[in-house]
Amino acid sequence: MAFSLKGKTAIITGGGSGIGKAISTTFAKQGAQVCILDFNKENGTSTVLEIINKNGAAHFYQCDVSNQKQINTIVTEIVKNNTIDILINNAGIAHVGNIENTNLEDLDRLYNVNIKGVYNGMKAVIPHFKKQQSGVIINMASIASSVGISDRFAYSMTKGSVLTMTYSVAKDYIANGIRCNSISPARVHTPFVDGFIKQNYPDNQAEMFENLSKTQPIGRMGKPEEIANLALYLCSDEASFITGTDFPIDGGFIKLNG
Ligand code: NAD
Repeated sequence: MAFSLKGKTAIITGGGSGIGKAISTTFAKQGAQVCILDFNKENGTSTVLEIINKNGAAHFYQCDVSNQKQINTIVTEIVKNNTIDILINNAGIAHVGNIENTNLEDLDRLYNVNIKGVYNGMKAVIPHFKKQQSGVIINMASIASSVGISDRFAYSMTKGSVLTMTYSVAKDYIANGIRCNSISPARVHTPFVDGFIKQNYPDNQAEMFENLSKTQPIGRMGKPEEIANLALYLCSDEASFITGTDFPIDGGFIKLNG
């Protein structure tokens, strides 16, 4: 089977919803044992059940990725009986605002999840990857990482760091058989986007959904499965020559807008 993940164990942060959920179900379908680390117990356990009901292998670990101790404890638990082959640092949160309406609390919150969470994930698995002399990391960045998005100061800042962390780790561990890449989606239709519209435009949600779709040259939002398929390719043995690269998946947003 092409893009098989049979026999591999994958840690997927934020795997209970949206893009992370699509990655979890896709990876399980391709034979991986999936370990979902998510803050939200209800979403995490329901995704695990969905996978198990389709004869896949999945486990849920409740976890705040900004908490290094929690991630370390979970990784130690997983490696007792398994190797870890793949880490998907996907958990992330958003904030709307330019620099003037981003306060220190907002900045710290975004930093803790979007930057420290990615750092914590990589820091926990890299010693195991080094021992194995193999491992694949995908960090979920955003189009905001490279071009910035207006009114998303803190989000753009943190997602920019995801790119540079990715390049740095790719360079430092290339000799250890570790590949590290990032994915930069434009807008993808997930609860993340629905929540954003509901919170910021409660009175004209349908219109805003339409407007957001139209900001992408392709005329629609991405689907979580489309991101999951790219992640699958990048984590598969077929992508063995790919490291230290960011992959925009954006319906033409970066190159075709204007
Ligand atoms: P989502 O809100 O649907 O899912 C995010 C998941 O992460 C949730 O299950 C949530 O419980 C979990 N999570 C949040 N904070 C956490 C924490 N501190 N610890 C553990 N789990 C936590 O979001 P999504 O749209 O699927 O986005 C996933 C990733 O993709 C994020 O990093 C986001 O920045 C990025 N992204 C999303 C879009 C988009 O348009 N949806 C575009 C570009 C990048």
